[in-house]
Amino acid sequence: MGASVPAAAIVAIGDELLLGDTIDTNSAWLGRRLADLGVPVCRGWTIPDAKADIAAAVVRAAALAEVVLVTGGLGPTPDDRTREALADLTGAALRVDRDLLAGLEDRFRSRGYELLPERNVSQAQVLEGARILPNSLGTAPGQAVEVEGSLVILLPGVPGELVRLVEEQVVPLLSQRFAGRLRPLHHRRIHTTGVPESVLAEMVESALPQDMGPVALAYLPGLGGVELRLTARGVDNAEAARWLDSIEEALEPAVREYRYYSDRRDLADALGSALVAASRTLAVAESCTGGLIAKRLTDLPGASKYFVGGLVAYDDRIKTDVLGVSREDIEAHGVVSEDVAAAMARGVAQTMGADAGLGVTGIAGPGGGSDQKPVGTVCFAAYFDGRCEVRRERFKGDRTGIRERAAQATMALLLRMLEAG
Ligand code: AMP
Ligand code: MG
Repeated sequence: MGASVPAAAIVAIGDELLLGDTIDTNSAWLGRRLADLGVPVCRGWTIPDAKADIAAAVVRAAALAEVVLVTGGLGPTPDDRTREALADLTGAALRVDRDLLAGLEDRFRSRGYELLPERNVSQAQVLEGARILPNSLGTAPGQAVEVEGSLVILLPGVPGELVRLVEEQVVPLLSQRFAGRLRPLHHRRIHTTGVPESVLAEMVESALPQDMGPVALAYLPGLGGVELRLTARGVDNAEAARWLDSIEEALEPAVREYRYYSDRRDLADALGSALVAASRTLAVAESCTGGLIAKRLTDLPGASKYFVGGLVAYDDRIKTDVLGVSREDIEAHGVVSEDVAAAMARGVAQTMGADAGLGVTGIAGPGGGSDQKPVGTVCFAAYFDGRCEVRRERFKGDRTGIRERAAQATMALLLRMLEAG
């Protein structure tokens, strides 16, 4: 393997993961943490609570990767079989470690139990020759053993314990074992909104340079837009930065119109920053989004610098009596209309004494649609500096998807107005 970048594999154990009772957050967390450390995960398995299956998965994982992280199955109950599976696989005996046993006894005594329950003794069992990785939060320690040239590390399934044990024990262990070979992954994230993935991809592909060097591009679509993630692998900081800068620059013309900047990967954050930079305040009037925009803005610390307030204007009477939307507009164009959205945006800014206002009215479904205004039809407006911009869109998705997309598009409309100055 020489100076190549080491790889890791994950074996996640538990019937509950396969049955869908528990989401495998451990693998997701390990994937991110190990990429940051410079030992990227190349493969993962999800395995039931069965000894033979665990052993077979560890063998396959060890054939592919220099580090195998096994999570779960270290508890005290009979369905926790990871220790035994590894004993069968390696031929190492399981023996009770006196110090661990004493620690367990102390732990139980401090909780008011005179005797350590018999079944918990298994948590003091270690594989002969294994390195013990103390677990400062729980009862079962981690263990590291060599299997066919790879380092196999057994970790507890409880997410909090796993995280602590990895930070305290595994990161130092891997840093030492792979000194000089670690190459953290370098990501550059380009956030876009308001452009479908296929349209974006066409523009991006024609702008990409022929030679991408160590960089790979991923399209990550979500309800709020598409994130482009550029990832440089196997290179040092300086070389990664050079490649990422040049590819980002090549992509700039393709993404400019749709891009927003936020370390939190959140358009509300980008809008908040723009309002702060312009020293302007905002009020929002929401019908179909029911407060989603206000929630997203106020989720961010420091929102009080620019966010004045919001009104969930659901009933027509609230739109007319509180926001000053005219009854004639509602009768002539319908409550889901450009005119009403614009009047809501202007009305809320004036009523609440803000520099800018947002208004959104639409049909989130599943009922309430018509031929002219099918489910997903949303009219939204941004009022700023005496000007009002208004849009009508038909968003796809279920009720949640439509509302999320509507909130995102409404905030984007104001962000673009602020950028245009
Ligand atoms: P175990 O070590 O198998 O006894 O697991 C202890 C607890 O951790 C279980 O109740 C699981 O719900 C949880 N757990 C186990 N594996 C995972 C995983 N991969 N991701 C998230 N939670 C897990
Ligand atoms: Mg389990």
